[in-house]
Amino acid sequence: MKKVMVKFPKLGQYYFEFRKSQWNCPRELEKKQWKRFKAILNHAYNHCEIYHRKMRSMNLRPEDITSKRDLLKIPTVNKEELRKNYPSRSLANNFRLRDCFLARTSGSTGDPLHFAIDVDALLQKMVVNLRTCEMTNYHIGEKLIQVSPPTELGFNQSLFDKLLKRKYISPFEKDIKKSLNIMNKFKPAAVVGYTSFIKLLAETLLKDKKYNLPIKSIMTTSELLLIKTKEKIKEAFNADIFDQYGSVEFGRISGECLEHQGYHINSEIALVEFIKDGEHCSLDESGEILVTSLINRAEPFIRYEIGDLGKPLDYQCNCGRGLPLMGGLLGRLNDLLCSADGSFVIPERAYYIVRECDGIKEFQIVQKTNKNLSIKLVEDKPLSEQSKRTIIRQFKDYLGDVKVEIVIVKEIPREKGKHKHIKSLIQKKN
Ligand SMILES: [Zn+2]
Repeated sequence: MKKVMVKFPKLGQYYFEFRKSQWNCPRELEKKQWKRFKAILNHAYNHCEIYHRKMRSMNLRPEDITSKRDLLKIPTVNKEELRKNYPSRSLANNFRLRDCFLARTSGSTGDPLHFAIDVDALLQKMVVNLRTCEMTNYHIGEKLIQVSPPTELGFNQSLFDKLLKRKYISPFEKDIKKSLNIMNKFKPAAVVGYTSFIKLLAETLLKDKKYNLPIKSIMTTSELLLIKTKEKIKEAFNADIFDQYGSVEFGRISGECLEHQGYHINSEIALVEFIKDGEHCSLDESGEILVTSLINRAEPFIRYEIGDLGKPLDYQCNCGRGLPLMGGLLGRLNDLLCSADGSFVIPERAYYIVRECDGIKEFQIVQKTNKNLSIKLVEDKPLSEQSKRTIIRQFKDYLGDVKVEIVIVKEIPREKGKHKHIKSLIQKKN
């Protein structure tokens, strides 16, 4: 791959453009989003074999899509299809692979996906990531610690990092004190990165008071943020916590602002749909998330099954941004629990049951069959028999006649730097 230099003037132009557009009124943003969607759909239909074939198979042309409801007619695409068709049928025929950045997902939910992103899309993605961080009380120019693998896009971004005063620490680092020492020396104003690693930092900080970290903003990403974890991080860092939702494919899809009234969707770069039983969710109803990238022309993602669960929100945030709101991540599609009768349910209530029980430091629910559930618990303090019975009873109320066992363990290993709250071994039929 040819090394493509980051075009700083263009980066600056996007930065000012996106900083301004977040305050546009919802109608204006919606109009802009639809225009961008139509443009990318046309482009994908005309230049990408995978989407051309998909739409032709439904006898569909881009001009047939005239309203948000029409989106439902367009076939979705999943990771496996993109993997199989990369690059010959997924790359747009007017882009050359060697002119693009090549990225790959972390593989925390299966095999990694390799994909191409064009330079212009990459710049917009970088700027929107930054804008999402600036929705909090962090401002560009302040020192930032990023907990993530350092070269997420496989190119040397040291100049950009210097400009942002950004330093990386690895979420795979086993020696937590080593990471805290780096932070103690660097004195960041904000930390952004993997939730479970930030939680480990918080636990060590609560035990060891020697660190002096005047951090004002913690931005958690890439994993589910449960209330107990949020409280622990808040207590340890004495900072405000802002959760963000995103992925390697799209960058930051949404994030919380100072008002904490939901997650602002970056609607200029992504069109997010929430689907339940083949229809768009009504407001406040949970469903499967589909994301369309409005910027990546090299390798379009049209109605991509990202594998997460979430819900749209219908109100406007008090901050005055026109960007629409969604609720926090509700887990991965692979994290659905199975009731005794074989139906799949969103695990929100499971988190609630465990969260309400005192003395639990960490948990993982492992489901082997629809009749059998094992809850691994790491204790903060020994759990009473009464508490264990309550958890089991509540799970039976929730899932029906399921055998529930509680297993106390010393630790739950993270997988590829992330903590899995639910491990379902049940194959789902599509
Ligand atoms: Zn807001």
